[in-house]
Amino acid sequence: MSAEDRAALAERYHKVRSEIPPGVTLVAVSKTRSVEEIQALYELGHRAFGENYPQELREKQPLLPADIEWHFIGHLQTNKVKYIVPFVHLVHGVDSPKLLDELDRRAMQHKRLLDVLLQVHIATEDTKHGFAEEEVLALAEAGWTWPNLRVRGLMGMASNTPDRTQVRREFDRLRALFDQLGHRFGPDLDTLSMGMSTDTPEALAAGTTLLRIGTAIFGERAYPAG
Ligand SMILES: *Cc1c(COP(=O)(O)O)cnc(C)c1O
Repeated sequence: MSAEDRAALAERYHKVRSEIPPGVTLVAVSKTRSVEEIQALYELGHRAFGENYPQELREKQPLLPADIEWHFIGHLQTNKVKYIVPFVHLVHGVDSPKLLDELDRRAMQHKRLLDVLLQVHIATEDTKHGFAEEEVLALAEAGWTWPNLRVRGLMGMASNTPDRTQVRREFDRLRALFDQLGHRFGPDLDTLSMGMSTDTPEALAAGTTLLRIGTAIFGERAYPAG
């Protein structure tokens, strides 16, 4: 990274930070970003990073400082769980009982109490993963049966639409579900992960507790071809 790139990163980061009230967690989404870029943000004092791909996270993690809190925010397949369970701080996208089973099994192997968020499908697109609201309520009713996992809250992604009212409505619904759950999953339900670079204002207005922001910090992603 050039000195100019570092200065630009610092400027974007401080601008994003200045718009986030205290008490709301900022996870810097570093998928596709180099170890050098992540290290540069770390040197500005940032510690919470989010990744979407288990293999990519597994490769980067040992090359970076051990006190980084790694958030897994992507869709997780059961056969990839083993790569991230030893060190991951919070798994955001948990969307099936089968995945809960595998996370629980691996957490036990590593003698960890692993924190997870249940992903809820709030968008109109059916490409986005997640439990239906009724399924989350049913899980809460049934009682928690994964002793090595601790539910910390919910995660959701709004529709990818220019309609700000719709985005706000989707986030409001997720916040309402979060409030409705109260302590039914236990006393530790304190995290509502919603909001990315394009819908931060709506997420803050709806009462998010954790923003996942990539582009506004690191700049546009150059997705690998193919
Ligand atoms: C990529 C990604 C983000 C960050 O998106 P930006 O638009 O770059 O801020 C947040 N959440 C999830 C689940 C993502 O995949």
